Amino acid sequence: MKKKNRVAPVLRWLNHYFVFFLLVAFVITCCTMLFVSVLRDSLGLTLTDENIGTAAKITFVNVILLSLIFTVIDALRRKWTVERPVKQIIEAAEKIIEGDYSVRVKPVSPVGSDDSLNRITECFNDMAEELGGVETLRTDFIANVSHEMKTPLAVMQNYGTLLQSPELSDEKRMEYAKGVVDGSRRMADMMTNILKLNRLENQQIFPKTEEFDLGEQICECLLQYENVWEKNDIELETDIAEGVTVRADSELLSHVWNNLFSNAFKFTPEGGRVRVSMSATEHHAKIQVSDTGCGMTPEVGAHIFEKFYQGDTSRSSEGNGLGLALVKRVVDIMQGEISVESVLGEGTTFTIRIRR
Ligand code: ADP
Repeated sequence: MKKKNRVAPVLRWLNHYFVFFLLVAFVITCCTMLFVSVLRDSLGLTLTDENIGTAAKITFVNVILLSLIFTVIDALRRKWTVERPVKQIIEAAEKIIEGDYSVRVKPVSPVGSDDSLNRITECFNDMAEELGGVETLRTDFIANVSHEMKTPLAVMQNYGTLLQSPELSDEKRMEYAKGVVDGSRRMADMMTNILKLNRLENQQIFPKTEEFDLGEQICECLLQYENVWEKNDIELETDIAEGVTVRADSELLSHVWNNLFSNAFKFTPEGGRVRVSMSATEHHAKIQVSDTGCGMTPEVGAHIFEKFYQGDTSRSSEGNGLGLALVKRVVDIMQGEISVESVLGEGTTFTIRIRR
C-alpha cells in the first residue's frame, strides 16, 4: 500500500495560502505606512513614541485581519473555480482509465472561471466520446466477425458429420462435399474482405496510380457476371463512353465495380434489368449502376456503407455486409463521391464520381 505523506499537504497549504497571506500582509503594510507618512507630512504632525506604539499595534491587528479575509476569499475562489473542476476532470480521467467511456465532465461555470478550463472540459468530453465510439466499433466488429463465422462453420460441421456416414451414395457425398467447399469459400471471402478493409482503413494500401481505360475495365468486370444475368434472364443495358482514361489504382477500383455489379445482380429478380453507364467530363468520370431489384427503405439506405450491415437478411448467406463498406473506403481514398438512390420494390441506383 502506498504510504501517506503527511508533510506534502502541509507544504502544499503553505505554498498555496501562506505565501499569499504574507504577500497580502506586505502590500497592506506598505500601503498603510505610505498613507501615514503622506498624512503626517501634509498635516505637519509630529508623532510621539506613544502614538507610534499604539498605531503599530492597531495596524498590525488590521493587517493580520485583512490578510486573513483576503486569503480566505482567494482560497474559496480558487476552490470553486480551479480545484473543483480540476478534481472533476481527474475523477473522469480515472474512470476512462478503468474503461468507462460514458463519463462526461460538466462545463465549468463561466462566472469567474478560467475559459481555458472550459476548453479543457470540452476537449475531454469530445475525447471520451471518440474513445467510446472506437470501443463500440471494436466490440461490435469482434461480435460481428464471430457471428458471421459461426454460420459457415456450423454448415461445414453439419456436412462433415453427414460425410462420415459409410452408406452414402456418390451423389450425396458430392452434395455434402460441395456444402463444405461453399462454407469454406464463404469464410475465406469474408476473411479476404476483412483484411482488405483493415488494410485500407489503416492506410497500408497506398493507391498505385496508373493511367488506364475505365470503360474497358468496367466491361471486363461486367463480363464476369455473364452467366448470372443469362441464368436469371436479366436484361443488361450499357451506355459506356469510349476512350475515357483515368489515373487511379485499377485494382482498388475493380473492387468497387465487382461489389456494385454483384449486388445489382443479386438483388434483381429474374426478368429484371441492370443498367451500367459511364460518362466523363474533363476532370471527372461518372459511373451509374442501376437495377430494377428489390430496392431499399431510406432507413436501410442510411446504413449500407457500415461494416457488416445487411439490410436484406433473406440474402445474408450470399454476402457478409462488407462489400459496400469496402466500396466506400476505396472511393474515399480516391477522393471521389458515392451516393445511392433507391425506391423499395422498384430498384436502386448507385452513382460514383471519381477524378480523372
Ligand atoms: P452484402 O451484399 O454482402 O449483404 P453489402 O455491403 O454489399 O453487403 O450491402 C449491404 C446491404 O445493402 C445489403 O445487405 C442490402 O440490404 C443493401 N444493398 C446493396 N446493394 C443493393 C441493391 N442493389 N439493391 C438493394 N439493396 C442493396
